[in-house]
Amino acid sequence: MLKKSKRLMVVASFFLVFALVFTAAAQAEVKNVILMVGDGLGIGQIDMARYMAGDKDHELEIMKMPNVGLMMTSSTEGVTDSAAAGTAMATGHKVYNGAVGMNKNGAELDSVLDFAEVRKKATGVISTNTVTDATPASFTASVKDRGMGAEIARQILNNDVEVVLGGGREDFMEEEAGEDLIAKAKEMGYQYVSDKEQLERVIPMNGKVLGLFNDSYMNYIQDRDEVGSKEPSLLEMTTKAIDVLSEDEDGFFLMAEGARIDHAAHAADVPGVVAETLDFDASVKYAVDWAKEHKDTMVVVVADHETLGFSVTEPVNKEALMNIKVSPEYMAGKLVETKAGNAYTVDSIQSVFKEYANIDLTEAEAREFNSNIVNKDDGSVYYQYKVGWQIGSVIAAKNNVGVVSADIRAKSDTGGHTLNSVPIFAFGPGSKNFNGVMQNTEFSDLLFDSMRP
Ligand SMILES: [Mg+2]
Ligand SMILES: [Zn+2]
Repeated sequence: MLKKSKRLMVVASFFLVFALVFTAAAQAEVKNVILMVGDGLGIGQIDMARYMAGDKDHELEIMKMPNVGLMMTSSTEGVTDSAAAGTAMATGHKVYNGAVGMNKNGAELDSVLDFAEVRKKATGVISTNTVTDATPASFTASVKDRGMGAEIARQILNNDVEVVLGGGREDFMEEEAGEDLIAKAKEMGYQYVSDKEQLERVIPMNGKVLGLFNDSYMNYIQDRDEVGSKEPSLLEMTTKAIDVLSEDEDGFFLMAEGARIDHAAHAADVPGVVAETLDFDASVKYAVDWAKEHKDTMVVVVADHETLGFSVTEPVNKEALMNIKVSPEYMAGKLVETKAGNAYTVDSIQSVFKEYANIDLTEAEAREFNSNIVNKDDGSVYYQYKVGWQIGSVIAAKNNVGVVSADIRAKSDTGGHTLNSVPIFAFGPGSKNFNGVMQNTEFSDLLFDSMRP
């Protein structure tokens, strides 16, 4: 009896060792890497989205991923912007705010996407911002300032990035770039698409795709019906990108960004953060489900930094907030300027707040609002998106949202980014390495390591 059980134990441990060795070997090889970046997606934004979309105990899909870490986000200056943050994650080097894939001496820094190219993998970037904006650009370009959109567009094409989907058409047009980069892309073999239906029709095996769905950044999910948008969602772009990139037998690297989470967060816009985060979350779910079928695929979810210190306060007015159906930026477009052009009419301020946010502003409050949307130097009103920030802050204050105040945001060089560490969620082979607390540069090292043989 004893003897038999002993023999069983030996056999069992043999199989256990065999299973462990086999699993380790199977996990070593990462063929495909899908990196999902929620711009400004701190734990507060995640908790806000899950609470507003469900209840206090509701979980998002990203929270079901098995491996979790924490990432510190500083740039060389302190609180980071998205350029320095993207560069740290993409290249493993901390740089100054505004720099994209370049250090202060002007040296170009190779990104993990470049490394994937060297390893013959197909590569792609997706963003709901412009494809030339700081986050995707950190992976595809090297420039000293994030504002150099047309140069970034040129480098994207020259670097042979196979799938490029998002906003930013302007940067590819002759007026901005000095040459027609869309025509050039077509000559280089890209299929060019500009709306959701054309994207759906793209045939994966034809290889390279350039999809530019807006002149500037893509519309907020919240505003798409209002403006008659034909833009694809992040989920639709992610699905198509994986279809196309997975045709490459050497594997692929894809960076997909939910960029407007950050924009909504700057505006203290709770329903906006929720809608953008849910689109992001659905994209992550798609990627993880795909990775479950393709076991050599690693999915990593992270934020570049946190924006505006979001938290779910106990008196937050969930119902009022979730009844708001457009973004503050959209509301800003409905305000009427006074004849002098240095303020909005009190009437239009009151009616916009009433119509879109069900808030009754007093005349005094409307005048107070006007005092916060004027450039101090020339007396003109702010850009529409920045007027939106002020609208969003009034709505947030009226509904007890936990966010950095408009006063602190006005003093902030990054418009309200914070030093809050951000969560990392990971799935698939190699994903166990993304445990513990790490620097954004160490996070980058792990991405590079995952693609080493
Ligand atoms: Mg970004
Ligand atoms: Zn931001």
